[in-house]
Amino acid sequence: MFKKLLVANRGTIAIRIIRACRELGIGTIAIYSTADKDALHVRIADEAVCIGPAAAEDSYLNIPSIISTVLTYGADAVHPGYGFLSENGDFAEACRRSGVNFVGPRARHIRLMGDKPRARRIMKRAGVPILPGSEGTGVSELKDAQADAKRLGYPVLIKAAAGGGGKGMRVVRDAHELARLFPLARAESEAAFGSRTMYLEKYLERARHVEFQILADNNRNVIHLGERDCSIQRRHQKVLEEAPCPVMTKRLREKMGKAAVRAAEVVGYSNVGTVEFLLADDGQFYFIEMNTRIQVEHGVTEMVTSTDLVRESIRIAAGEPLGMKQRQIGIEGAAIECRIYAEDARTHLPSPGVVTNHHAPGGLGVRVETALYDGYRVPVHYDPLIAKLIAHADTRALAIVRSKAALREYVIDGISTNIPLHLKILDDADFQGGEFATDFLKRYETAPPAAPPAIEHPTAKAS
Ligand code: ADP
Repeated sequence: MFKKLLVANRGTIAIRIIRACRELGIGTIAIYSTADKDALHVRIADEAVCIGPAAAEDSYLNIPSIISTVLTYGADAVHPGYGFLSENGDFAEACRRSGVNFVGPRARHIRLMGDKPRARRIMKRAGVPILPGSEGTGVSELKDAQADAKRLGYPVLIKAAAGGGGKGMRVVRDAHELARLFPLARAESEAAFGSRTMYLEKYLERARHVEFQILADNNRNVIHLGERDCSIQRRHQKVLEEAPCPVMTKRLREKMGKAAVRAAEVVGYSNVGTVEFLLADDGQFYFIEMNTRIQVEHGVTEMVTSTDLVRESIRIAAGEPLGMKQRQIGIEGAAIECRIYAEDARTHLPSPGVVTNHHAPGGLGVRVETALYDGYRVPVHYDPLIAKLIAHADTRALAIVRSKAALREYVIDGISTNIPLHLKILDDADFQGGEFATDFLKRYETAPPAAPPAIEHPTAKAS
């Protein structure tokens, strides 16, 4: 097992990783930007190193600075968490070249799944269902997009080949909209990912987002740990997630789980990963992408399967075999995660500032992952996700009641949060009945869609 692990991240996931390392007897090094000198992950790690100024490019995305810290402080492993460098093949490669273990898949798998048209091609060949869409390597010119849209029929979704965090995505309902929105989506992709390559996919109305958690060791053993329903989204970004999916059946789980395992097997994947699908009303499902890292919402799977996914990811990176077999995985009860953002309730714009009073709820089945404390200043520079509240119970109905009670108890004074929105969702009759799709949150839009938050780099992609 590793001796010292550098956590290449901040916020809730950095703390989550440090805690897992403690249990495994691994020493931890936190890195931080000057804006994060008072952050909780800095306080609780064994060692902490300032690696640059506030701008993420100069700190949490600064590969040379992170690698030199790894070497100077003698870390033998790096955990990238989610967001930042977690899906950057160059970073994984730089770690391995420096003789340090990257807790995640191999660089080539990160790159492969990060190229979405390529991932689609591989899945199609492997018999994993995909939606009709652009063939080949994608499109970068409007005329090619127009030809694809004509073939597919409207509505279509424009997506960025290098996409993530919903950036570069636009739903298009006719040729006129395509001509207007394609250049905008492409410009957004160029700004976010430095890539003009786009692709089109048939837009599936009223679909659910259902994703499968994968674990794979270095000996090609692959299992899945069931699904999460992440259909409660705003602008294609997840807000509330749950496990299991309320409309899942045993047969469908087997079928989708098999497809997810095949997706990982066909490329020889290792470590944690998530295979994301859209599930249509008629029970058909379609691969949309694979995330090659731990996800924000991993906690709901941990609660219903009693598995520590972060621990498993570290064990696998250290060359240990999977700790369990597929038949040992059961789903116990239901878990719901509310992502708590520092945001204005009406405009959804980030609301950074000082948290004057913080009281986190607790009790049976309540888990709070947060980096907040009394007097902490939420910085303007990073993703506004400040806490994750997970409620686990024997039944989904009780998990809903427990979530509501915990949210009502949660005190975060000094800044605005989206807790009121979560309470509305949990009180909604359709949500309670499990009757929802990815368009659910449209009914709670309270203001004209705000401009995307002015964050330099998201800490966490939606998925
Ligand atoms: P990103 O990686 O940018 O988050 P994804 O491909 O994971 O993008 O899609 C994000 C969300 O967009 C999905 O969860 C779903 O709600 C919606 N979406 C993606 N593809 C489609 C599609 N073809 N039809 C309908 N909705 C889609």
